[in-house]
Amino acid sequence: SFRMNDQVAIVTGAAAGIGRGIAEVFANAGCSVVVSDLALDKAEAAAAAIREAGGKAVAAVCNVTVEEDRVALVKTALSAFGKLTVLVNNAGGGGPKPFEMPMGDFEWAYQLNVFSAFRLMQLAAPHIQHAGGGAVLNISSMAGENKNVRMASYSSSKAAMNHLTRNTAFDLGPMGIRVNAIAPGAIRTAALATVLTPGIEKAMLKRTPLKRLGEASDIGMAALFLCSPASGWVSGQVLTVSGGGLQE
Ligand code: NAD
Repeated sequence: SFRMNDQVAIVTGAAAGIGRGIAEVFANAGCSVVVSDLALDKAEAAAAAIREAGGKAVAAVCNVTVEEDRVALVKTALSAFGKLTVLVNNAGGGGPKPFEMPMGDFEWAYQLNVFSAFRLMQLAAPHIQHAGGGAVLNISSMAGENKNVRMASYSSSKAAMNHLTRNTAFDLGPMGIRVNAIAPGAIRTAALATVLTPGIEKAMLKRTPLKRLGEASDIGMAALFLCSPASGWVSGQVLTVSGGGLQE
């Protein structure tokens, strides 16, 4: 079933963009959602919107690169909803950067996209197992396969996230936890707006069979498949959700 009644999900970076889209779709499917982000007021606004629409949501502050925040985030899910069954590692970013970038920028991409996701998986897995199993979803990027200038840090960190997904599926499968990733194409969000020009958008649409950019809800619906019982025998997969656009 695609229903998520009796499930409890943490979504990181959920005050805006793709994370917010995922949180809203999950809540519509009956899931209780911990909407976490850097700033409490923004997370609370997103959680309040879900509650006004009849869903179950609480807000939490979590900078995914900070250990105390990660530990507190898992505790919030348990105290607010009594258990944890789904973790969505959505907070991410870090690119594009010139080849000459300071090493701190390179390291940041890995902190944000790889280390944080892995550490949250470590913290969440025992609780998901205790709840009888569930799912982890990592929001990667088509950049994890594409090759381009200025993308060394971001692309390679998302490639690492893809392979983290495939490998941790083996670690967590015996605990009843499925681990998958989504590699989104271009989704209309604040992050995309910083790099999107009319010329770039035209070029993107030329390579996109469905002739539109993605919306956060497009990723939300794919996330619903991968985190609900509908995908009960799917694990270790990286699903490209891109309007049919191909990896370059
Ligand atoms: P966004 O900037 O629209 O939203 C990201 C949210 O994450 C914001 O609310 C921000 O405050 C929060 N955030 C940033 N750093 C954080 C941190 N350290 N800890 C916790 N929260 C943090 O971005 P988006 O486009 O929705 O991107 C979400 C994910 O999707 C990222 O992992 C990104 O790499 C991936 N992605 C996006 C696109 C796209 O086209 N937008 C394409 C491929 C992959």
